[in-house]
Amino acid sequence: MKGKSILSEGKQIQLATELVRLGARLQVLEASTTLSRERLVKLYKEVKGASPPKGMLPYSEDWFTGWQPNMHSSLFINIYNYITRYTKVRDIDAIIKSYQLYLEHIEANRLQRILSFTRAWTLVRFVESKVLSVTSCVKCTGNFLVHSLDIQSNHVCGLCHVPSRAGKTKRVAQEARAAQEAGAGELCVI
Ligand SMILES: [Zn+2]
Repeated sequence: MKGKSILSEGKQIQLATELVRLGARLQVLEASTTLSRERLVKLYKEVKGASPPKGMLPYSEDWFTGWQPNMHSSLFINIYNYITRYTKVRDIDAIIKSYQLYLEHIEANRLQRILSFTRAWTLVRFVESKVLSVTSCVKCTGNFLVHSLDIQSNHVCGLCHVPSRAGKTKRVAQEARAAQEAGAGELCVI
């Protein structure tokens, strides 16, 4: 422990605490901080009052292309891309900032929180490894997540082409569109 700065350790603890509060799983904490697993488990228990859930992160990239998850994930990745393009915020800090803005948007529009922090973190890794990509909708020009293998020049998004099977999708579509518009407006003032 000699030579390890207390100040930098303090920052790591602060970061881990914020991640736990946002709902991050233990694997995310381990990947994003320099603290030992033992200390992270202890910290997790202190913040949440319960042990971290065990097991692997179950998420596959297919989840992000489902209709409702895609609306929320696309909103998040648009915020993330904006932040990393126009500010100096990077890595885990950029994911935290983007996720906080995502939460603000869905709360302002009274939408359900569909995207968990851990899924948002996983999503950034899928985009960085080019498993998932962002492409423009030919109708509304909004940017949406797609499988990189499915990129086509004539993509029509889930808002412009709402699946007919679900009865209440029209209202959800209107809310999601409002969230995207509100998101775009608020992003301009970052
Ligand atoms: Zn569209």
